[in-house]
Amino acid sequence: MSDWVKKLVGMKSCWHCEKLMTKKEVYSVDVDTQDGPINFKMCKACAEDMDEMLKELEETLAERNNTF
Ligand SMILES: [Zn+2]
Repeated sequence: MSDWVKKLVGMKSCWHCEKLMTKKEVYSVDVDTQDGPINFKMCKACAEDMDEMLKELEETLAERNNTF
């Protein structure tokens, strides 16, 4: 599908897997980084994966803080 068609029908591609989604299917995930919050637009599956990943990351960071 060419870019102008995607714009015309309001489709977005997932940041992670590049799956095409309609506006209703887009999941918006905010991630706080040292450089400030980053917003990712992704599909449901990737948003769930990201959620798991962030939880694990937080746990890892928390463990590390406890160690030092
Ligand atoms: Zn995806």
